[in-house]
Amino acid sequence: MWSYYPDLLARPVPRYTSYPTAAEFTDQVGEAYLGNALDHVPQGQPVSLYVHIPFCEEICWYCGCNTGRSNKAQRLTSYLEALHAEIRTIAMRLGGRARVQRIAFGGGSPNAIPPVEFARLVDELMVAFGCGAPVLSVEIDPRGFDARWAMTLGVSGTKRVSLGVQTFDPAIQAAIGRVQPRELIVTAVDRLRSNGVRSINFDLMYGLPGQDLTLLTRTLEEAIAMRPDRIALFGYAHVPHILPRQKRIDATNLPDQAERFAMAALGHDQLVAAGYVPVGFDHFALPHDDLAKAQQQGTLRRNFQGFTEDQADVLIGIGATAIGQFPHLIVQNDKNSGRYRMRACAGRLTGERGIVRDADDRQRGVIIEDLLCGRAADVAPYVHREPIRAGLQPFLSRDLAVLDGSMLRITDEGRPYGRAVAVLFDRHRAVSQQRFSSAI
Ligand code: SF4
Repeated sequence: MWSYYPDLLARPVPRYTSYPTAAEFTDQVGEAYLGNALDHVPQGQPVSLYVHIPFCEEICWYCGCNTGRSNKAQRLTSYLEALHAEIRTIAMRLGGRARVQRIAFGGGSPNAIPPVEFARLVDELMVAFGCGAPVLSVEIDPRGFDARWAMTLGVSGTKRVSLGVQTFDPAIQAAIGRVQPRELIVTAVDRLRSNGVRSINFDLMYGLPGQDLTLLTRTLEEAIAMRPDRIALFGYAHVPHILPRQKRIDATNLPDQAERFAMAALGHDQLVAAGYVPVGFDHFALPHDDLAKAQQQGTLRRNFQGFTEDQADVLIGIGATAIGQFPHLIVQNDKNSGRYRMRACAGRLTGERGIVRDADDRQRGVIIEDLLCGRAADVAPYVHREPIRAGLQPFLSRDLAVLDGSMLRITDEGRPYGRAVAVLFDRHRAVSQQRFSSAI
């Protein structure tokens, strides 16, 4: 059982899907930097692609994604036209040098577009990038996921799907604006499995309005009974000052931090008891799954899609707000969908904001990634710096972390404090605190 130290969790911390985080992006770094990075991708470089579909049939009140309603056919059509154009522009800049091994579709909900449009996108990507047999993964909203969509995923060779489940409790579903009966999830899972999808992830949440330990246990039991290969158990972050759509959620009914901590601990224990391997700080996977294997073999990585077994150092973002990552650079595409479409359709790259990572950023980035993925990092360059030593002390003195020479290790007991330790190595974190959420 984990011990609760509120003083160590008081500080809002990033989720570190990149370092530096998006809060450090500036508009000084954009299209030209992205073009230069693409032009210098070496021959044979393994590359992953992320394609963003910013549409959903219904908008959930808690959602932090860049997405809008898919109810206007013209908006969908012109966005898809821009995506196709951007794919061709990027492929031309790469000149056939990249070896595309993975393509992830996220959003929004990729299944907010017609399945035939998804098939066209996959074809365009395969031809433009000369892909062999990339690993295809797709985020799916179970609402609106019909048999035709499932068949299209099967025909495209999609092997990984992530389902937005969040909670099975009907009252909580109503309180967060996402009503989806259990049968919908059961049907979606059946359809995915019968169409050859081998790795299914459930996104679940704790810290939801009206949720308590009993209700969370029931949701976890329902999930475990369906045996998804992966489960991501996120803490709901209530930040209506950043995400106005969350104002519809009744904040008076939210669990406090001590209750959230207990929920995270319960989730961990219940999933481990059910045979799941804990991965990073909020993922779980069955032992046969590649994510569990990566955790056990020490090859787990973290990128914009969360914890991953993907080893590629170059990730190219396609679509409005998509983020691309190169060893020296992070660039985000234009968030404004009108501007995005105009630029993409004019044959331009759409990178708009980003950051050049200097040597110190890269070194700190490795430490933060190692701490979050493997709970251990060589912190040699920073171990004697006073603010870091002082910051580590409360974790060391409570056996939440151990420092052996320059090797810093987060103990089992320290698991829920991983992000609170990692933030000590973030040189940018004196500012922009309010953008982030609690570490638990
Ligand atoms: S379906 Fe997913 S992406 Fe769409 S609004 Fe709901 S949480 Fe956000």
